[in-house]
Amino acid sequence: MKILVGIKRVVDFSVRVQVKKDGSGVNTDGVKLGINPFDEIALEEALRIRERGTQAEVVAVSIGPAEVQPQLRTALAMGADRAILVETGEVLQPLMVARVFHELVKRENADLVILGKQAIDDDSNQTGQMLAALWDRPQATFASKVELKDKTLMVTREVDAGLETIEIDLPAVITTDLRLNTPRFVKMPDIMKARSKPLQVLKLEELGVTAAPKLEVTSYAPPPQRVGGKKVEDVTALVATLRQRGIL
Ligand code: AMP
Repeated sequence: MKILVGIKRVVDFSVRVQVKKDGSGVNTDGVKLGINPFDEIALEEALRIRERGTQAEVVAVSIGPAEVQPQLRTALAMGADRAILVETGEVLQPLMVARVFHELVKRENADLVILGKQAIDDDSNQTGQMLAALWDRPQATFASKVELKDKTLMVTREVDAGLETIEIDLPAVITTDLRLNTPRFVKMPDIMKARSKPLQVLKLEELGVTAAPKLEVTSYAPPPQRVGGKKVEDVTALVATLRQRGIL
């Protein structure tokens, strides 16, 4: 069985992002970058499937500039067998990323693709769904539990009404939710071992995918400053204040 896992490099979740003064994007100079948290969960789940005894090869895939290689090395240190970097300096949008994964899935004859439910930089929550549509295979999004049974997967999904369990046939796409697992820490010896694991670099053009953005981002802006709260004496004062502000 072959499992492809998406590894996107994003601004670390602990960083307070700053929008550039001219509104052209987010400042990433000198900012800590790391693996998208949902992708660490995706990789952890792939490793657990392998560790539960399934003969599986786990391939970490990233699409981006050459600088994302450290994140792929971290994925290899976590336990991925090999990595593929699809190198491009283009601005990435979910449809293009899904097309790249679709090409790789065909080349690699993959049985399962595990992606994050969303990348915490663009919060699109689209790539997994688009890949499943292009590939014409089942999808189980927002997974909080995954059980592999021969050629089928039982996936518990986090939905608005609570939890939903579905059964899907492989090959398939899963996207991970936060409660699926807790990713392992990388140990020093694994970092050393990861240095000699294979990391293949492909150019975007080699896959026949063209970067034709469907969306144009016109500007970025920070969220509006929150106005401070105010304590009122009683309900009468509360109603009066709400009326005054035109809320009631
Ligand atoms: P999104 O649809 O952009 O919110 O991303 C959902 C998931 O798709 C991410 O959590 C990743 O697993 C995968 N993904 C998106 N962009 C990339 C990328 N450039 N390289 C690798 N995986 C990606």
